[in-house]
Amino acid sequence: MAGQEAASTGFVTRFAPSPTGLLHLGHAYSALTAWEAAQAANGVCLLRIEDTDTGRVRPEYEAAIYEDLSWLGLAWPEPVMRQSERHAAYTDALARLSARGLTYPCRCTRADIRAAFAAPQEGAAPANNAPSVYPGTCRGRPLSDAGPEDAIRLDLNRALHLVQGETLTWLETGPAHAGRQALDCDALRREVGDVVLARKDIGTAAYHLGVVVDDAAQGVTHVIRGADLLDATPIHRLLQALLDLPVPVWHHHALVRDENGKRLAKRDDARAIRAYRDSGMTPAEVRDLCRAQTV
Ligand code: GLU
Repeated sequence: MAGQEAASTGFVTRFAPSPTGLLHLGHAYSALTAWEAAQAANGVCLLRIEDTDTGRVRPEYEAAIYEDLSWLGLAWPEPVMRQSERHAAYTDALARLSARGLTYPCRCTRADIRAAFAAPQEGAAPANNAPSVYPGTCRGRPLSDAGPEDAIRLDLNRALHLVQGETLTWLETGPAHAGRQALDCDALRREVGDVVLARKDIGTAAYHLGVVVDDAAQGVTHVIRGADLLDATPIHRLLQALLDLPVPVWHHHALVRDENGKRLAKRDDARAIRAYRDSGMTPAEVRDLCRAQTV
């Protein structure tokens, strides 16, 4: 496959949008940052469609991604990787983690999780009363018990123990936290916990597992993405160690913000690339606009 061949040499990065809305200025900035970094390094920027959220994904949004990126002047190797076609790779990764005793089935609802935090014996709930990490109610349930109603979670403590989490490091080159980073196991326990690896609905990979499996499959050497995903990096680094996958360099870039300083959301259609295009702006003007609004 052309995408995979291109990915086998030199600098490889990617832009990985989810087709759950129209691309906006923030996506344009992210895509441009990745493409320009690839160009400067004589490398390649791949496109990956992260379409596992079947409830929100729409084919017309995927079509709009191709159109809007082309309009901005960006091109990518074909074929494009689509996560909806990668089920076998995720199942395999999950099986490898499960074989090492690192997963368990979980059928807790959000309401169950809130209730566990509210129970007196569970100790302190987070200040705003919203559970921050999964309290571990189903931990220890055997996988043989898993049915269609179950998500699959990572047993974080076991995982950290197995790979000696504190030894894991990586390089970040983004403006906010540049330098060599080391896994903070306590922060990971406190803030991330037993993440979902596979969703209950149709057993598809959840975000973290999909990203690390696909970055490795595409030979991504540099992950370039928005600073809103900075907090996802430690769990990605841990999953790479558990699955014996190569470790990329990360670069989390500044975000495009609205006039109130808020990060743009998918529903912010006024800032959709095609709204600017329909208003008569040129691709060069849109590129300048998103660069001017990053913080
Ligand atoms: N699909 C994610 C998003 O649209 C980006 C994933 C990543 O870059 O790691 O926010």
